[in-house]
Amino acid sequence: MNTSYSEEELKQEFRNIPSTVGEGNKRKWIYPKKPSGTWFKRRMIVAYSLLAGFIILPFIKINGNPFFLVNILDRKFIFFGNIFWPQDTYLIVLAGLILIVIIILFTAVYGRVFCGWTCPQTILMEMVFRRIEYWIEGDFRQQKKLNESPWTREKIIKKTVKQSLFILISIFMGHIVLAYLVGIDEVMVLVSSSPLDHIWGFASLIAFSATFYLVFAKVREIVCTVICPYGRLQGVLMNKESMVVAYDNVRGEPRGKIKKGEDQGSKGDCVDCTLCVQVCPTGIDIRNGTQMECINCTACIDACNDVMEKVNRPKGLIRFDSIVGIQNKEGFKFSTRVIGYTIVLVVLTGIFGFLMTQRSEIQATVLRVPGQLYQQNPDGTISNLYNVQLVNKTFDEKEIQLSLNSEYSGATIELVGETDLMLNPQETSEGVFFVKIPAGELKGMKSKISVEIYVENELITREETTFISPTANKK
Ligand code: SF4
Ligand code: SF4
Repeated sequence: MNTSYSEEELKQEFRNIPSTVGEGNKRKWIYPKKPSGTWFKRRMIVAYSLLAGFIILPFIKINGNPFFLVNILDRKFIFFGNIFWPQDTYLIVLAGLILIVIIILFTAVYGRVFCGWTCPQTILMEMVFRRIEYWIEGDFRQQKKLNESPWTREKIIKKTVKQSLFILISIFMGHIVLAYLVGIDEVMVLVSSSPLDHIWGFASLIAFSATFYLVFAKVREIVCTVICPYGRLQGVLMNKESMVVAYDNVRGEPRGKIKKGEDQGSKGDCVDCTLCVQVCPTGIDIRNGTQMECINCTACIDACNDVMEKVNRPKGLIRFDSIVGIQNKEGFKFSTRVIGYTIVLVVLTGIFGFLMTQRSEIQATVLRVPGQLYQQNPDGTISNLYNVQLVNKTFDEKEIQLSLNSEYSGATIELVGETDLMLNPQETSEGVFFVKIPAGELKGMKSKISVEIYVENELITREETTFISPTANKK
Protein backbone atom coordinates (compact mmCIF):
# COMPACT_ATOMS: atom_id res chain seq x y z
CA MET A 1 0.00 0.00 0.00
CA ASN A 2 1.38 3.37 -0.95
CA THR A 3 1.15 5.68 2.06
CA SER A 4 3.36 8.38 0.65
CA TYR A 5 1.38 11.51 -0.23
CA SER A 6 1.98 13.72 -3.26
CA GLU A 7 1.56 17.51 -3.09
CA GLU A 8 -1.74 17.34 -5.01
CA GLU A 9 -3.12 14.64 -2.69
CA LEU A 10 -2.16 16.73 0.32
CA LYS A 11 -4.17 19.66 -1.09
CA GLN A 12 -7.26 17.56 -1.75
CA GLU A 13 -7.13 15.29 1.30
CA PHE A 14 -6.97 17.98 3.95
CA ARG A 15 -9.55 16.18 6.09
CA ASN A 16 -7.75 12.82 6.00
CA ILE A 17 -4.14 13.91 6.16
CA PRO A 18 -2.86 15.97 9.12
CA SER A 19 -1.70 19.45 8.17
CA THR A 20 1.72 18.68 9.62
CA VAL A 21 2.34 15.78 7.19
CA GLY A 22 4.29 16.84 4.13
CA GLU A 23 5.31 15.25 0.88
CA GLY A 24 6.64 11.73 1.25
CA ASN A 25 5.03 11.44 4.70
CA LYS A 26 7.70 13.65 6.21
CA ARG A 27 7.01 16.17 8.97
CA LYS A 28 6.01 19.48 7.45
CA TRP A 29 7.55 22.20 9.61
CA ILE A 30 5.01 24.99 10.03
CA TYR A 31 6.32 28.54 9.69
CA PRO A 32 3.35 30.74 10.62
CA LYS A 33 3.51 34.41 9.69
CA LYS A 34 3.80 36.70 12.74
CA PRO A 35 0.23 37.55 13.79
CA SER A 36 -0.98 41.05 14.58
CA GLY A 37 -4.28 42.89 14.91
CA THR A 38 -7.15 43.51 17.31
CA TRP A 39 -7.89 39.87 18.10
CA PHE A 40 -4.20 39.17 18.68
CA LYS A 41 -3.97 42.08 21.14
CA ARG A 42 -6.97 40.70 23.05
CA ARG A 43 -5.41 37.26 23.07
CA MET A 44 -2.12 38.65 24.38
CA ILE A 45 -3.94 40.27 27.33
CA VAL A 46 -5.72 36.99 28.18
CA ALA A 47 -2.63 34.82 27.64
CA TYR A 48 -0.13 36.92 29.61
CA SER A 49 -2.61 37.38 32.48
CA LEU A 50 -3.14 33.61 32.68
CA LEU A 51 0.57 32.92 32.37
CA ALA A 52 1.38 35.39 35.14
CA GLY A 53 -1.30 33.75 37.32
CA PHE A 54 0.11 30.28 36.59
CA ILE A 55 3.63 31.34 37.59
CA ILE A 56 2.60 33.35 40.66
CA LEU A 57 0.06 30.88 42.11
CA PRO A 58 2.56 28.42 43.71
CA PHE A 59 4.17 31.35 45.57
CA ILE A 60 0.90 32.51 47.16
CA LYS A 61 0.39 31.35 50.72
CA ILE A 62 -2.35 31.78 53.29
CA ASN A 63 -1.11 31.67 56.90
CA GLY A 64 2.09 30.05 55.65
CA ASN A 65 0.27 27.35 53.67
CA PRO A 66 0.01 27.02 49.88
CA PHE A 67 -3.00 28.54 48.16
CA PHE A 68 -2.89 25.83 45.51
CA LEU A 69 -1.26 22.38 45.71
CA VAL A 70 -1.88 19.09 43.88
CA ASN A 71 0.33 16.68 45.83
CA ILE A 72 -0.63 13.39 44.21
CA LEU A 73 2.05 11.32 46.01
CA ASP A 74 0.90 12.37 49.49
CA ARG A 75 -2.73 12.56 48.30
CA LYS A 76 -3.02 16.11 49.58
CA PHE A 77 -4.86 18.73 47.57
CA ILE A 78 -5.24 22.42 48.35
CA PHE A 79 -7.56 24.51 46.21
CA PHE A 80 -8.00 28.20 46.98
CA GLY A 81 -6.58 27.69 50.49
CA ASN A 82 -8.93 24.78 51.35
CA ILE A 83 -7.25 21.47 52.03
CA PHE A 84 -8.83 18.35 50.57
CA TRP A 85 -7.96 14.81 51.71
CA PRO A 86 -8.47 11.37 50.18
CA GLN A 87 -11.73 11.36 52.20
CA ASP A 88 -12.85 14.26 50.00
CA THR A 89 -12.18 12.35 46.79
CA TYR A 90 -15.88 12.46 45.89
CA LEU A 91 -15.69 16.28 45.87
CA ILE A 92 -12.59 16.26 43.67
CA VAL A 93 -14.23 13.76 41.28
CA LEU A 94 -17.38 15.90 41.17
CA ALA A 95 -15.32 19.05 40.55
CA GLY A 96 -13.56 17.17 37.71
CA LEU A 97 -16.95 16.14 36.27
CA ILE A 98 -18.19 19.72 36.40
CA LEU A 99 -15.02 20.86 34.66
CA ILE A 100 -15.57 18.28 31.90
CA VAL A 101 -19.19 19.42 31.45
CA ILE A 102 -18.06 23.06 31.35
CA ILE A 103 -15.53 22.18 28.63
CA ILE A 104 -18.15 20.18 26.67
CA LEU A 105 -20.65 23.01 27.00
CA PHE A 106 -18.09 25.59 25.98
CA THR A 107 -17.05 23.47 23.03
CA ALA A 108 -20.65 22.96 21.91
CA VAL A 109 -21.26 26.71 22.05
CA TYR A 110 -17.90 28.28 21.24
CA GLY A 111 -16.00 25.48 19.51
CA ARG A 112 -12.34 25.07 20.36
CA VAL A 113 -11.99 28.53 21.89
CA PHE A 114 -10.43 27.01 25.04
CA CYS A 115 -7.50 25.78 22.92
CA GLY A 116 -6.69 29.07 21.27
CA TRP A 117 -7.17 31.32 24.26
CA THR A 118 -6.54 29.53 27.55
CA CYS A 119 -4.73 26.23 26.90
CA PRO A 120 -1.23 26.32 28.47
CA GLN A 121 0.17 24.59 25.36
CA THR A 122 -1.04 27.38 23.04
CA ILE A 123 -0.16 30.17 25.45
CA LEU A 124 3.41 28.98 25.90
CA MET A 125 3.85 28.06 22.23
CA GLU A 126 2.40 31.18 20.64
CA MET A 127 3.09 33.80 23.29
CA VAL A 128 6.47 32.70 24.62
CA PHE A 129 8.44 30.26 22.46
CA ARG A 130 7.20 31.51 19.08
CA ARG A 131 7.71 35.15 20.14
CA ILE A 132 11.34 34.38 20.99
CA GLU A 133 11.72 32.72 17.60
CA TYR A 134 10.33 35.79 15.76
CA TRP A 135 12.59 38.03 17.85
CA ILE A 136 15.79 36.09 17.09
CA GLU A 137 15.17 34.61 13.64
CA GLY A 138 12.69 37.07 12.15
CA ASP A 139 9.31 36.43 10.50
CA PHE A 140 8.29 33.19 8.77
CA ARG A 141 10.22 33.74 5.53
CA GLN A 142 13.49 34.59 7.31
CA GLN A 143 13.05 31.56 9.57
CA LYS A 144 12.56 29.24 6.61
CA LYS A 145 15.53 30.77 4.81
CA LEU A 146 17.72 30.43 7.88
CA ASN A 147 16.77 26.77 8.36
CA GLU A 148 17.52 25.96 4.73
CA SER A 149 20.81 27.90 4.67
CA PRO A 150 24.24 26.34 5.43
CA TRP A 151 25.72 26.65 8.92
CA THR A 152 27.24 30.13 8.92
CA ARG A 153 28.50 32.05 11.98
CA GLU A 154 25.22 34.02 12.05
CA LYS A 155 23.11 30.87 11.94
CA ILE A 156 25.14 29.20 14.73
CA ILE A 157 24.78 32.29 16.97
CA LYS A 158 21.03 32.63 16.31
CA LYS A 159 20.30 28.95 16.86
CA THR A 160 22.47 28.79 20.00
CA VAL A 161 20.82 31.84 21.56
CA LYS A 162 17.34 30.57 20.68
CA GLN A 163 17.90 27.03 21.95
CA SER A 164 19.59 28.32 25.13
CA LEU A 165 16.56 30.51 25.87
CA PHE A 166 14.22 27.59 25.12
CA ILE A 167 16.15 25.38 27.55
CA LEU A 168 16.18 28.08 30.26
CA ILE A 169 12.43 28.67 29.95
CA SER A 170 11.79 24.90 29.96
CA ILE A 171 13.81 24.51 33.17
CA PHE A 172 11.95 27.43 34.76
CA MET A 173 8.56 25.98 33.77
CA GLY A 174 9.67 22.56 35.03
CA HIS A 175 10.27 24.12 38.47
CA ILE A 176 6.86 25.84 38.40
CA VAL A 177 5.04 22.60 37.57
CA LEU A 178 6.91 20.78 40.35
CA ALA A 179 5.92 23.57 42.76
CA TYR A 180 2.26 22.73 42.04
CA LEU A 181 2.96 19.10 42.96
CA VAL A 182 5.18 19.38 46.04
CA GLY A 183 4.93 23.04 47.06
CA ILE A 184 7.31 25.93 46.45
CA ASP A 185 9.20 25.32 49.75
CA GLU A 186 10.18 21.82 48.61
CA VAL A 187 11.32 23.21 45.27
CA MET A 188 13.45 25.84 47.05
CA VAL A 189 15.06 23.07 49.11
CA LEU A 190 15.70 21.11 45.89
CA VAL A 191 17.41 24.01 44.13
CA SER A 192 19.53 24.94 47.12
CA SER A 193 20.90 21.48 47.87
CA SER A 194 22.92 18.84 46.07
CA PRO A 195 20.98 16.76 43.50
CA LEU A 196 22.36 13.65 45.25
CA ASP A 197 20.42 14.56 48.42
CA HIS A 198 17.11 14.62 46.53
CA ILE A 199 17.61 12.24 43.67
CA TRP A 200 13.87 11.75 42.88
CA GLY A 201 13.08 15.43 43.12
CA PHE A 202 15.99 16.21 40.85
CA ALA A 203 14.95 13.46 38.40
CA SER A 204 11.40 14.94 38.32
CA LEU A 205 12.81 18.38 37.54
CA ILE A 206 14.88 16.98 34.68
CA ALA A 207 11.86 15.05 33.35
CA PHE A 208 9.52 18.08 33.46
CA SER A 209 12.09 20.42 31.93
CA ALA A 210 12.95 17.94 29.16
CA THR A 211 9.24 17.47 28.38
CA PHE A 212 8.73 21.22 28.11
CA TYR A 213 11.71 21.56 25.81
CA LEU A 214 10.67 18.65 23.58
CA VAL A 215 7.06 19.83 23.32
CA PHE A 216 7.83 23.46 22.52
CA ALA A 217 11.03 23.15 20.54
CA LYS A 218 10.17 20.04 18.53
CA VAL A 219 6.65 18.59 18.80
CA ARG A 220 4.78 21.94 18.77
CA GLU A 221 1.40 22.04 16.94
CA ILE A 222 1.36 18.21 16.67
CA VAL A 223 0.21 18.26 20.31
CA CYS A 224 -2.96 20.13 19.19
CA THR A 225 -3.55 18.37 15.88
CA VAL A 226 -2.69 14.76 16.73
CA ILE A 227 -1.88 14.06 20.41
CA CYS A 228 -4.43 16.07 22.44
CA PRO A 229 -7.53 13.89 23.16
CA TYR A 230 -9.70 16.99 23.57
CA GLY A 231 -8.74 18.08 20.07
CA ARG A 232 -9.62 14.65 18.68
CA LEU A 233 -13.08 14.91 20.27
CA GLN A 234 -14.05 18.06 18.39
CA GLY A 235 -16.11 16.18 15.80
CA VAL A 236 -18.29 14.70 18.56
CA LEU A 237 -18.62 17.81 20.70
CA MET A 238 -19.37 20.36 18.01
CA ASN A 239 -22.30 20.72 15.67
CA LYS A 240 -23.29 23.08 12.87
CA GLU A 241 -24.62 25.56 15.43
CA SER A 242 -21.32 25.78 17.34
CA MET A 243 -19.65 29.16 17.21
CA VAL A 244 -16.26 28.75 15.57
CA VAL A 245 -13.72 30.74 13.63
CA ALA A 246 -15.31 30.34 10.20
CA TYR A 247 -14.81 31.55 6.67
CA ASP A 248 -17.97 33.02 5.10
CA ASN A 249 -17.94 31.01 1.87
CA VAL A 250 -21.30 32.52 0.83
CA ARG A 251 -19.69 35.94 0.72
CA GLY A 252 -16.15 34.91 -0.17
CA GLU A 253 -16.68 32.57 -3.13
CA PRO A 254 -15.88 32.41 -5.96
CA ARG A 255 -12.51 33.60 -4.74
CA GLY A 256 -10.01 35.22 -7.04
CA LYS A 257 -7.12 37.64 -7.13
CA ILE A 258 -7.93 41.20 -8.20
CA LYS A 259 -5.63 43.71 -9.77
CA LYS A 260 -5.47 47.33 -8.64
CA GLY A 261 -8.47 49.24 -9.99
CA GLU A 262 -10.05 46.05 -11.39
CA ASP A 263 -13.80 45.61 -10.92
CA GLN A 264 -14.63 42.70 -8.61
CA GLY A 265 -17.43 41.73 -11.01
CA SER A 266 -18.88 38.31 -10.26
CA LYS A 267 -16.07 37.38 -7.89
CA GLY A 268 -16.62 36.86 -4.14
CA ASP A 269 -14.88 38.90 -1.46
CA CYS A 270 -11.94 36.51 -1.00
CA VAL A 271 -9.04 37.88 -3.00
CA ASP A 272 -7.11 34.62 -2.56
CA CYS A 273 -4.16 36.36 -0.92
CA THR A 274 -3.61 33.25 1.32
CA LEU A 275 -2.65 35.44 4.27
CA CYS A 276 -5.15 33.52 6.42
CA VAL A 277 -3.23 30.33 5.61
CA GLN A 278 0.16 31.94 6.18
CA VAL A 279 -0.66 33.07 9.73
CA CYS A 280 -2.24 29.77 10.80
CA PRO A 281 -0.12 28.11 13.53
CA THR A 282 -1.56 24.68 12.72
CA GLY A 283 -1.00 25.05 8.98
CA ILE A 284 -4.59 24.75 7.73
CA ASP A 285 -6.65 26.66 5.19
CA ILE A 286 -9.79 27.83 7.02
CA ARG A 287 -11.48 28.37 3.63
CA ASN A 288 -11.82 24.57 3.38
CA GLY A 289 -14.37 24.72 6.20
CA THR A 290 -14.25 23.89 9.92
CA GLN A 291 -11.41 21.50 10.62
CA MET A 292 -10.33 19.58 13.66
CA GLU A 293 -6.90 21.26 13.58
CA CYS A 294 -8.37 24.75 14.02
CA ILE A 295 -7.65 25.92 17.58
CA ASN A 296 -9.77 29.08 17.20
CA CYS A 297 -6.73 31.29 17.71
CA THR A 298 -8.27 34.05 15.52
CA ALA A 299 -4.97 34.88 13.77
CA CYS A 300 -6.71 34.39 10.40
CA ILE A 301 -9.52 36.81 11.40
CA ASP A 302 -6.96 39.57 11.98
CA ALA A 303 -5.11 38.77 8.75
CA CYS A 304 -8.29 38.76 6.65
CA ASN A 305 -9.74 41.89 8.28
CA ASP A 306 -6.53 43.68 7.33
CA VAL A 307 -6.93 42.57 3.71
CA MET A 308 -10.64 43.49 3.60
CA GLU A 309 -9.77 46.97 4.82
CA LYS A 310 -7.19 47.32 2.04
CA VAL A 311 -9.56 46.13 -0.72
CA ASN A 312 -12.45 48.22 0.63
CA ARG A 313 -14.68 45.31 1.56
CA PRO A 314 -16.50 44.88 4.90
CA LYS A 315 -14.47 43.14 7.63
CA GLY A 316 -15.54 39.74 8.94
CA LEU A 317 -15.07 37.50 5.90
CA ILE A 318 -13.47 35.22 8.48
CA ARG A 319 -15.18 35.68 11.83
CA PHE A 320 -16.67 33.98 14.87
CA ASP A 321 -19.90 32.44 13.57
CA SER A 322 -21.66 29.08 13.19
CA ILE A 323 -21.97 27.15 9.93
CA VAL A 324 -25.77 27.52 10.13
CA GLY A 325 -25.37 31.24 10.83
CA ILE A 326 -23.23 31.70 7.73
CA GLN A 327 -25.50 29.65 5.46
CA ASN A 328 -28.77 31.20 6.66
CA LYS A 329 -27.29 34.61 7.44
CA GLU A 330 -28.84 34.49 10.90
CA GLY A 331 -27.46 35.14 14.39
CA PHE A 332 -26.32 32.59 16.94
CA LYS A 333 -29.05 30.41 18.52
CA PHE A 334 -28.96 28.06 21.54
CA SER A 335 -29.54 24.47 20.34
CA THR A 336 -31.38 21.79 22.36
CA ARG A 337 -28.06 20.12 23.07
CA VAL A 338 -26.58 23.29 24.54
CA ILE A 339 -29.68 23.82 26.71
CA GLY A 340 -29.35 20.18 27.89
CA TYR A 341 -25.67 20.66 28.78
CA THR A 342 -26.52 23.86 30.65
CA ILE A 343 -29.15 22.05 32.77
CA VAL A 344 -26.66 19.26 33.61
CA LEU A 345 -24.07 21.87 34.50
CA VAL A 346 -26.45 23.78 36.81
CA VAL A 347 -27.52 20.53 38.57
CA LEU A 348 -23.92 19.35 39.06
CA THR A 349 -22.81 22.74 40.33
CA GLY A 350 -25.78 22.78 42.75
CA ILE A 351 -24.83 19.32 44.11
CA PHE A 352 -21.21 20.39 44.40
CA GLY A 353 -22.13 23.57 46.29
CA PHE A 354 -24.36 21.58 48.67
CA LEU A 355 -21.63 18.98 49.35
CA MET A 356 -19.10 21.74 49.98
CA THR A 357 -21.35 23.26 52.65
CA GLN A 358 -21.74 19.80 54.24
CA ARG A 359 -18.01 19.14 54.22
CA SER A 360 -16.65 18.97 57.76
CA GLU A 361 -13.20 20.35 58.61
CA ILE A 362 -12.75 17.49 61.08
CA GLN A 363 -13.57 14.06 59.71
CA ALA A 364 -14.33 11.36 62.29
CA THR A 365 -14.98 7.63 61.98
CA VAL A 366 -16.15 5.68 65.03
CA LEU A 367 -15.96 1.88 64.90
CA ARG A 368 -16.23 -0.81 67.52
CA VAL A 369 -12.78 -2.38 68.18
CA PRO A 370 -12.76 -5.64 66.17
CA GLY A 371 -12.86 -8.85 68.18
CA GLN A 372 -14.24 -7.13 71.32
CA LEU A 373 -17.90 -7.73 72.12
CA TYR A 374 -18.62 -6.33 75.58
CA GLN A 375 -17.34 -6.39 79.14
CA GLN A 376 -19.41 -6.85 82.28
CA ASN A 377 -17.99 -4.59 85.00
CA PRO A 378 -18.15 -5.08 88.81
CA ASP A 379 -20.09 -1.78 89.12
CA GLY A 380 -23.00 -3.29 87.20
CA THR A 381 -22.28 -1.58 83.90
CA ILE A 382 -21.66 -3.09 80.48
CA SER A 383 -18.86 -1.54 78.46
CA ASN A 384 -17.98 -1.61 74.77
CA LEU A 385 -14.62 -0.57 73.36
CA TYR A 386 -14.48 1.82 70.35
CA ASN A 387 -11.88 3.28 68.09
CA VAL A 388 -12.15 6.83 66.79
CA GLN A 389 -10.17 7.94 63.73
CA LEU A 390 -9.90 11.67 63.26
CA VAL A 391 -8.64 13.73 60.33
CA ASN A 392 -7.81 17.39 60.85
CA LYS A 393 -8.31 19.00 57.44
CA THR A 394 -7.41 22.46 58.70
CA PHE A 395 -4.09 24.24 59.11
CA ASP A 396 -4.65 24.70 62.90
CA GLU A 397 -4.22 22.49 65.94
CA LYS A 398 -7.57 21.27 67.26
CA GLU A 399 -8.60 19.98 70.66
CA ILE A 400 -11.30 17.34 70.34
CA GLN A 401 -13.85 16.37 72.98
CA LEU A 402 -16.09 13.33 72.74
CA SER A 403 -19.60 13.21 74.15
CA LEU A 404 -22.30 10.58 74.15
CA ASN A 405 -25.83 11.01 72.92
CA SER A 406 -28.07 8.09 73.86
CA GLU A 407 -31.41 7.28 75.39
CA TYR A 408 -29.62 5.87 78.46
CA SER A 409 -29.26 8.42 81.22
CA GLY A 410 -26.51 6.51 83.01
CA ALA A 411 -24.34 6.07 79.90
CA THR A 412 -20.81 7.45 80.10
CA ILE A 413 -17.86 7.79 77.72
CA GLU A 414 -14.24 7.33 78.85
CA LEU A 415 -11.18 7.94 76.74
CA VAL A 416 -8.46 5.37 77.31
CA GLY A 417 -5.30 7.03 78.62
CA GLU A 418 -6.20 10.70 77.96
CA THR A 419 -8.93 13.15 78.70
CA ASP A 420 -8.81 15.04 75.39
CA LEU A 421 -7.58 14.33 71.90
CA MET A 422 -5.17 16.81 70.35
CA LEU A 423 -5.11 16.94 66.58
CA ASN A 424 -2.11 18.45 64.83
CA PRO A 425 -2.78 20.51 61.67
CA GLN A 426 -3.38 18.40 58.54
CA GLU A 427 -2.82 15.17 60.44
CA THR A 428 -4.77 12.10 61.33
CA SER A 429 -5.03 10.74 64.87
CA GLU A 430 -6.63 7.80 66.61
CA GLY A 431 -8.09 7.29 70.03
CA VAL A 432 -9.71 4.45 71.96
CA PHE A 433 -12.63 4.91 74.35
CA PHE A 434 -15.13 2.93 76.40
CA VAL A 435 -18.85 3.50 76.46
CA LYS A 436 -20.39 2.24 79.71
CA ILE A 437 -24.10 1.75 80.21
CA PRO A 438 -25.71 0.44 83.41
CA ALA A 439 -26.93 -3.10 82.63
CA GLY A 440 -30.32 -2.32 84.17
CA GLU A 441 -31.02 0.41 81.62
CA LEU A 442 -30.33 -1.61 78.49
CA LYS A 443 -33.37 -2.58 76.41
CA GLY A 444 -31.89 -4.89 73.82
CA MET A 445 -28.78 -6.80 72.79
CA LYS A 446 -27.99 -4.15 70.21
CA SER A 447 -28.59 -0.48 70.93
CA LYS A 448 -28.02 2.52 68.72
CA ILE A 449 -25.84 5.21 70.25
CA SER A 450 -24.23 8.28 68.78
CA VAL A 451 -20.87 9.77 69.63
CA GLU A 452 -20.65 13.53 69.27
CA ILE A 453 -17.35 15.14 68.29
CA TYR A 454 -16.79 18.67 69.63
CA VAL A 455 -14.06 21.12 68.70
CA GLU A 456 -13.75 24.01 71.12
CA ASN A 457 -17.28 23.30 72.38
CA GLU A 458 -18.72 23.37 68.89
CA LEU A 459 -20.43 20.22 67.65
CA ILE A 460 -18.63 19.16 64.46
CA THR A 461 -20.14 15.81 63.66
CA ARG A 462 -22.26 13.05 65.14
CA GLU A 463 -21.25 9.44 64.44
CA GLU A 464 -23.80 6.63 64.80
CA THR A 465 -22.63 3.26 66.12
CA THR A 466 -24.01 0.21 68.00
CA PHE A 467 -23.64 -0.93 71.60
CA ILE A 468 -23.67 -4.68 72.26
CA SER A 469 -24.83 -6.17 75.53
CA PRO A 470 -25.30 -9.81 76.72
CA THR A 471 -29.09 -9.85 77.04
CA ALA A 472 -31.96 -7.44 77.07
CA ASN A 473 -33.00 -6.16 80.47
CA LYS A 474 -36.21 -7.89 81.40
CA LYS A 475 -38.17 -5.72 83.82
S1 SF4 B 1 -7.09 36.36 4.09
FE1 SF4 B 1 -9.21 36.66 3.48
S2 SF4 B 1 -9.04 37.39 1.41
FE2 SF4 B 1 -7.08 36.51 1.87
S3 SF4 B 1 -7.27 34.40 1.19
FE3 SF4 B 1 -7.84 34.43 3.29
S4 SF4 B 1 -10.07 34.63 3.26
FE4 SF4 B 1 -9.33 35.21 1.23
S1 SF4 C 1 -7.72 28.49 11.00
FE1 SF4 C 1 -7.54 30.52 11.89
S2 SF4 C 1 -8.34 30.30 13.95
FE2 SF4 C 1 -7.98 28.26 13.17
S3 SF4 C 1 -5.94 27.75 13.93
FE3 SF4 C 1 -5.69 28.58 11.86
S4 SF4 C 1 -5.36 30.76 12.20
FE4 SF4 C 1 -6.14 29.96 14.10
